Amino acid sequence: MHRPIYLDNHATTPVDKRVVDAMIPYFSEHFGNPSSINHQYGWEAEAAVKQTREILAKTINASSEEIIFTSGATEANNLAIKGVAEAYFQKGQHIITVATEHHAVLDPCKYLETLGFKITILPVQKDGLINLNALEKALRPDTILVSVMAANNEIGVIQPLTEIGKICHAQDIIFHTDAAQAIGKIPLDVQASHIDLMSLTAHKIYGPKGIGALYVRRRNPRVQLAAQQHGGGHERGMRSGTLYTPQIVGFGKAIEIANREQESENRRLTQLRNRLWESLSKLEGIHLNGHPTQRLAGNLNISIEGVDGAALLLGLQSMMAVSSGSACSSTTTAPSHVLTALGHPEKLAYASIRFGIGRFNTTEEIDLVAQQLVSVVQSLQRI
Ligand SMILES: *Cc1c(COP(=O)(O)O)cnc(C)c1O
Repeated sequence: MHRPIYLDNHATTPVDKRVVDAMIPYFSEHFGNPSSINHQYGWEAEAAVKQTREILAKTINASSEEIIFTSGATEANNLAIKGVAEAYFQKGQHIITVATEHHAVLDPCKYLETLGFKITILPVQKDGLINLNALEKALRPDTILVSVMAANNEIGVIQPLTEIGKICHAQDIIFHTDAAQAIGKIPLDVQASHIDLMSLTAHKIYGPKGIGALYVRRRNPRVQLAAQQHGGGHERGMRSGTLYTPQIVGFGKAIEIANREQESENRRLTQLRNRLWESLSKLEGIHLNGHPTQRLAGNLNISIEGVDGAALLLGLQSMMAVSSGSACSSTTTAPSHVLTALGHPEKLAYASIRFGIGRFNTTEEIDLVAQQLVSVVQSLQRI
């Protein structure tokens, strides 16, 4: 029995063996607490943590004191959004975000709404990109935060961060971006793009689960954040809790590899993605979701008319691991909030599939998947 071909790399990725090798010594050998400043065990762990901090900072053109480790992008988003809301509520109580954001952004905003904050959720265009004029129009004197993701987890669309950052900074409004899908895959620069807060995670880029970071700007302007977890005062008081050294080491190694191999990997993934799309595009009623070029290399998101989504997924399950909509809502057959935001009709006979092609997928796998998908869809279309 073969396991299904894994094409769900936007949900999570396998940990690269090189990352595992780097992590191993930090469990039982260099196990010290990085906060222990009085002995060698602590120093060893602290040196490893410092190294990852530096790699992350360099990757996004920040400085290492601006990196706050968290348990992942969900926590980083919560810390950024609630932390700003709590620190700046006297200045204003209006926050702007976008309809296609991850729930880890939308839900903290919804929560803040129950506390009295005002939330504007910007729509997106048919291609998944936000309209910059609409953003500018939505800004108010009491706007304290704009949160727009770097790359979308369902349709792979990459938002124009630099243009958004310019608009926010011209009016002294804090700009947060959820870069969980972008880090390691596309160049990111917090200076050039005027980004004040950036959420990161390791497990979408062949690193371990349960580790992430929040970049918090310290200069021009210095961003204030109210801690959401109190305790020993770790991470400059913004996120208390003993640092998880092995995961942090893995995060650093994963980013280091991703940076080094970014260009060649993106070239290869684009080829695989195009190959898959070419084979599938002959299907009747198929279309591509999201901007055709301004998207992540490994992402392909398609809809097929006249096919029942649940039936299709059932037919594919034993052959391939893909996702309909987002992983968080794949237990329902309703279209995801992202596809709905693109203006998708809520038709019953409508199948949408997200392919996340990754580092370990091969051309043979892509050809097999294409072949199988075409045959299952055609047999469903015949009934
Ligand atoms: C995966 C993901 C998250 C959640 O990250 P975790 O590290 O799993 O908490 C948030 N935002 C986006 C865009 C994601 O893809």
